[in-house]
Amino acid sequence: MQPLLIYNTLSRQKELFKPLHEGRVGMYVCGPTVYGDAHLGHARPAITFDLLFRYLQHIGYKVRYVRNITDVGHLEHDADEGEDKIAKKARLEQLEPMEVAQYFTNRFHEAISSLNCLPPSIEPHATGHIIEQQQLVQQILDHGYAYVSNGSVYFDVEKYNKDYKYGVLSGRDLENIKDASRELAGVGEKKNQADFALWKAAQPEHIMRWPSPWSDGFPGWHCECTAMGRKYLGEHFDIHGGGMDLIFPHHECEIAQAVASQGTQMVHYWMHNNMITIDGKKMGKSYNNFITLPQFFDGSHPLLTQAYTPMTIRFFILQAHYRSTVDFGNEALQAAEKGFNRLMDGYKAALRLQEGQKVKGQPQVEMKYVDELREKLYDAMNDDLNSPIVISNLFDACRVINSVVDKKASITAEVAKALAEVFHTFAFDILGLAPETGNSNKAREEAFGHVVDMILEQRQQAKNEKNWALSDKIRDDLAALGFEVKDTKDGFSWSLNK
Ligand SMILES: [Zn+2]
Repeated sequence: MQPLLIYNTLSRQKELFKPLHEGRVGMYVCGPTVYGDAHLGHARPAITFDLLFRYLQHIGYKVRYVRNITDVGHLEHDADEGEDKIAKKARLEQLEPMEVAQYFTNRFHEAISSLNCLPPSIEPHATGHIIEQQQLVQQILDHGYAYVSNGSVYFDVEKYNKDYKYGVLSGRDLENIKDASRELAGVGEKKNQADFALWKAAQPEHIMRWPSPWSDGFPGWHCECTAMGRKYLGEHFDIHGGGMDLIFPHHECEIAQAVASQGTQMVHYWMHNNMITIDGKKMGKSYNNFITLPQFFDGSHPLLTQAYTPMTIRFFILQAHYRSTVDFGNEALQAAEKGFNRLMDGYKAALRLQEGQKVKGQPQVEMKYVDELREKLYDAMNDDLNSPIVISNLFDACRVINSVVDKKASITAEVAKALAEVFHTFAFDILGLAPETGNSNKAREEAFGHVVDMILEQRQQAKNEKNWALSDKIRDDLAALGFEVKDTKDGFSWSLNK
């Protein structure tokens, strides 16, 4: 079996994964800014890093997974100007900012857990770590890589770039960044446009504010991840993840803050999932294609031709490698829905496989097949979490299972058990898929209901022919399965008491 390789955005290549502390992994993933419902842009990192979290634990690591909640400091357009996203929502809805943050945090948890993502080990809030962020700002000031201007504190990118290099993660260099930002309005309080806020003095009307040595204000958006990552995972930790859209400026700024405050980088492996487009277009309010997860689940967005279950969404995302782009469309989702059901049917069939007589000239599924399958599945996961290859191998296993069901091949009880176990480990424990229950299986439930109707019509026929033995047998057999049958004036009614 090959060892685990993961793609490090910093080195732009796959690297052998070696944790800093034997047997333990520290992992930080940027969480949501809680001012609106979770959408696909949240689902993809949640599922990508859930896959990693599950797999690292599966191969024996003790993992501390930290994912933050941004409830202050994230300004509009990800810039240093404009209103705080949460304060703005609170103003519009006439709510306390914390009411907005709590409401959307709860909604986020609900949506993400329906996607079967395990909760992180620690979920720190930015507002709960103002002191740690102020300490970080003070260290950067003490080391000379920041300056105070009108009560706000800015990171001095030019100065930092002379001693270290700014842009190591995104591959941008400072001159290009300066060129790109030249069209923007003047530098205001900053020395240079590329400088970014570590602490912002609050305007009088701003309600989210804390005292500090520099002003009553609030932390810059990039501070929280550096401060909380260090608090819970230490000055050096293994993995930092997030969406590719965070590489610049957010993660670039995090690296600069870490190096400016402690002299060295904090993170060993930077991992980024690619973005999601909808019908080939970027998701955005201006395209009117901004579909939230609750809208996917109930089909209420005009772009959706039907509702999609959380498992369809999860399966769809896992069908692509996390570093590839994914384009959402109704047809692709319907194909994913079919694929997911086919996989679940394959697993159910695997559980029911019977040991059969070996027929001459017919193939027998050997233990060697299961061993090779297991090896292929581990190799795929170890190759930078190649979930599409895992899924295609599981489909291959479905074909083998079906050939036994169709009596075109035979299997021993021992091999059948091993095959079902491998299937379970990869489909459920590692990919995190789950058989769907409840309303999500409505179409299937309806189909089963029609079958019961059909059987009861046969019973009616038997009664008409005065075949009491058969009509009683049908009623008793259904009762044994939990169906209560009542004869009515016009025929029958039934209910399932389970
Ligand atoms: Zn972050």
